[in-house]
Amino acid sequence: MRARDLDRYRREIGWRDAPLLEVALAASAPLPESGDLESLGRDAADCTRCRLAEQRRTVVFGEGDPHARIMFIGEGPGDDEDRTGRPFVGQAGRVLDAMIFALGLERRQVYIANVVKCRPPCNRDPKHDEAAACAPYLDRQIALIRPLLIVALGKSAARRLTGSTAPISALRGRWGSYLGIPVLPTFHPAFLLRTPLGKREVWQDLKAVRSRLAEAPTSP
Ligand code: URA
Repeated sequence: MRARDLDRYRREIGWRDAPLLEVALAASAPLPESGDLESLGRDAADCTRCRLAEQRRTVVFGEGDPHARIMFIGEGPGDDEDRTGRPFVGQAGRVLDAMIFALGLERRQVYIANVVKCRPPCNRDPKHDEAAACAPYLDRQIALIRPLLIVALGKSAARRLTGSTAPISALRGRWGSYLGIPVLPTFHPAFLLRTPLGKREVWQDLKAVRSRLAEAPTSP
């Protein structure tokens, strides 16, 4: 792919200051053909696009309402998720449930996914090439669900979806856009377990999300 095309792709997906190599990796990975979430999930279940496939027990594809108005995107599965195949089911998941509840919603009314679908060893951050290898799945999930807005949970998701390499403290609370969909980064639920003081900022972010949802026309 020529540098000019890569640059156009970079603008399209909003990764304004992402390294060109990472953009090239994501652009060159062919999109799965799957026409719906279920078949995309079946494709992902056998994925061997990156080294995370070697140690995973289960691919954690994502779950929730395929017509959700709001999508939460985290970093990657932890041990509980790797064991059960479901996103955000551990302690951080309980915090996420509370965040969803604060929006006046239930878990089954939203869609929850991660930047990478397989557990990074020792819960380390996903590496650039792992996130880029998984990007076609995430992009397709977003394109199929077409939520009204996305909440990016924590640094990895915020960086991936805004294309910025700024710290999460600078990204949170600022609306961005990914594939034409508004994205609001906020702190990761696991961070709130360690730093309860962060709840104040997250509450502000959730209020911003609630206002956007209230402004949006409801589907028939
Ligand atoms: N942390 C994440 O980012 N995702 C999960 O699914 C669980 C914990």
